Amino acid sequence: MIGLSTLFRTTLLALTLLSSSLAVTAAESATVAVKDIRLGVTAERTRLVLDLGAKVDFDIFLLDRPRRVVVDLPSLAWPTDQPTVDGLVQKIRFGQFTADKSRLVIDAKGPVRVAKSFLLPSSSGLPHRLVIDLVKTGNKEFADQVAKDRAAKRSAKKAAPAPTPFTPKPRKQANSKPVIVLDAGHGGVDPGALGRKAREKSVTLNFTRELAKQLRKTGKYKVYLTRNRDIYIPLRQRVNIARKHNADLFISIHADAIKRKNVRGMSIYTLSETASDKEAAALAKKENQSDIIAGIDFADQPPEVANILIDLAQRETKNLSVKFANLVVDNARGKTRLLDRTHRFAGFRVLKAPDVPSVLIELGFLTNRSDEKQLLSTAWRRKVAGALVNSVNGFFDASRLAALR
Ligand SMILES: [Zn+2]
Repeated sequence: MIGLSTLFRTTLLALTLLSSSLAVTAAESATVAVKDIRLGVTAERTRLVLDLGAKVDFDIFLLDRPRRVVVDLPSLAWPTDQPTVDGLVQKIRFGQFTADKSRLVIDAKGPVRVAKSFLLPSSSGLPHRLVIDLVKTGNKEFADQVAKDRAAKRSAKKAAPAPTPFTPKPRKQANSKPVIVLDAGHGGVDPGALGRKAREKSVTLNFTRELAKQLRKTGKYKVYLTRNRDIYIPLRQRVNIARKHNADLFISIHADAIKRKNVRGMSIYTLSETASDKEAAALAKKENQSDIIAGIDFADQPPEVANILIDLAQRETKNLSVKFANLVVDNARGKTRLLDRTHRFAGFRVLKAPDVPSVLIELGFLTNRSDEKQLLSTAWRRKVAGALVNSVNGFFDASRLAALR
């Protein structure tokens, strides 16, 4: 006869086993690994294969301008190496897209059709595989499929989002701490510029964390980050985060890459529809690509709101942005190499909060060996973040004095 205590123990053991196996499943499904990404090219088709640690759901669709094949997946642990591209594939990128979604974006060499896409279950020692076959098609067929995919997405979402109306910032209490929003450029599916070792999205996150730490240590500011992990955030959402926090200052951190490998140094940008020079215009164009790189469909974005209040707020904001940029140039001089004409202007989308003074800082060039070394150095990060803290202090000390007058 089985004693009650034995039965109890057995049940307990079974429960423990059950709960631990459940825990493993939950942990696994949270971070299914992509073990490999491969391309196989024949005359007829280009086949993309993802080796996966488990079965996953996926959603595949096309986008135009530029032509892209987008695959939405749950959060996955992606490989750090970039797969070699071939056939109909010009470029592949992947990474976290939203809190619970990751995304793979394929830039196509021409108009393509997804001939097949399916999951192969793990069998005879092979892992689960996601297989996508791309074949050549015509411009018209490609455009038709884009329209079809877009319509399907719209009906799934029901209504397109309405633009958020502009409401001026509420007045702050005189003794409240200034709010600073720090924005680490790129992230997730958008890696940003690439150096020999460094990737812009990691460089910007590391620097932003250091700057946040130093600013918080002063005890004088409330500091928020637009992202504190490797995740993609649309440009307009970064602006909205700053406005939601009622920010007094928005600092977007980036690092550049350029063909001429000898070019180095830090530069700082404020918003202007007319760029100060050709390089600044090209840079803004490149940084504004972030949403395209991440596979955002602009046709589904709510239009920008036009409003007289925006124009009024913007004028004051622009002056303050320029004031802060000048302080950064003064404080960074001697601490790190500066690009000539360090403060420049261009139409960066991330600087468009009408009522939040905003700057974008390019810390240096990932394509320059000395700059890349610095960008990866903790000591350099500390020193330059310190220069920015001094600039922030100067900025708010001046505005406090102005308020007393
Ligand atoms: Zn950037």
